[in-house]
Amino acid sequence: MNNKIWLSSPHMSGREIAYVQQAFDTNWIAPLGPHVDGFERELCDYIGTPHAAALSSGTAALHLALIMLDVKKDDVVMCQSFTFSASANPIVYQGATPVFIDSERDTWNLCPDALEKALTYYTDRGKKPKAVIGVHLYGMPAKLQEVLQICEDFEVPFIEDAAEALGSTYYGRKAGSFGAMSVLSFNGNKIITTSGGGALLSKNEESIRQARFLAMQARDAAPHYQHSQIGYNYRMSNVCAGIGRGQLEVIDERVAQRRANFDFYKGTLGTLPGISFQEEGEWSFSNRWLSCMTVFPQQAGGITRERIRLALEKENIESRPLWKPMHRQPVFSEAPYFGGKVAESLFEHGLCLPSGSNLSELDLQRIAECIKDQFS
Ligand SMILES: *Cc1c(COP(=O)(O)O)cnc(C)c1O
Repeated sequence: MNNKIWLSSPHMSGREIAYVQQAFDTNWIAPLGPHVDGFERELCDYIGTPHAAALSSGTAALHLALIMLDVKKDDVVMCQSFTFSASANPIVYQGATPVFIDSERDTWNLCPDALEKALTYYTDRGKKPKAVIGVHLYGMPAKLQEVLQICEDFEVPFIEDAAEALGSTYYGRKAGSFGAMSVLSFNGNKIITTSGGGALLSKNEESIRQARFLAMQARDAAPHYQHSQIGYNYRMSNVCAGIGRGQLEVIDERVAQRRANFDFYKGTLGTLPGISFQEEGEWSFSNRWLSCMTVFPQQAGGITRERIRLALEKENIESRPLWKPMHRQPVFSEAPYFGGKVAESLFEHGLCLPSGSNLSELDLQRIAECIKDQFS
């Protein structure tokens, strides 16, 4: 059997170990320390945003973002349906109601028309939503101009879930700098990793200060343990932050490598009948976290996405259907939904191809050959 090709595996630069060693040498083995501070500063510099809190996960960052925006029981929060469940779960942690919104066909992200309809519907009924959560799926920047304008018109804050989009830009500005609160993830399969971790970013210094406070169990200033609020244990470990510092040094290389994967796939598979790729507008630059394509069987001579996925699996190659929309998930079957069938159709026909920055030329060729074989 050929060696396994993973969808997106960690890719160490070799610089991480020196930071980790430093943490050990100085005994900063705790959810705070110089690497946490350093990683936060370096993230701010890279994104071009003033304040960041390094946290234990992207999910924790989304949860704190909702708390900072005062989302409480029975509030309404709008959320892109076509995403990973972690975008939506924290809404339920707060006892609020998620309202799911369809995607548009160009970027696969929040559909401005559906969003406007949903905001109008709830505002007219005296139930103004507390926040809108939008995603840059697979690294592709959303239609931010339209979405941010609508949020501004309705005076509802935008939470930018940039978990998949570190290194992507929109009109030259980095993803992670657009939300009232923005979120990053450094989970093991993301473009850079701390093994597990996340960050909350904002222009609002007080929000980030307060998020750090809540993330450290909300301890009041007192010699004993005193608490006036419910706290969380959400801070990033200083050891993990060391890995993050080593990873962040090579982020631009990682983006270039992932973009090269995409160019290879599009170049070798893009002319096959019925196959198309997630396209980038001229205003946007995707980190191409995952290379995604759609397979329409009517044009592909009956070949389906699932047939390709199974053929790859047989060759020991991991690929994955696009995210299953949240409004189609059993756990969210009761949640309201605004939009049509864009996300559902992408889920039915879409496939994420292996996209690691550590794929070899040979790996890429093996993947492309296997897919091309289906068409011959
Ligand atoms: C990975 C991811 C998250 C959650 O990040 P974790 O660090 O795994 O908690 C949130 N939203 C999206 C879109 C993601 O892809």
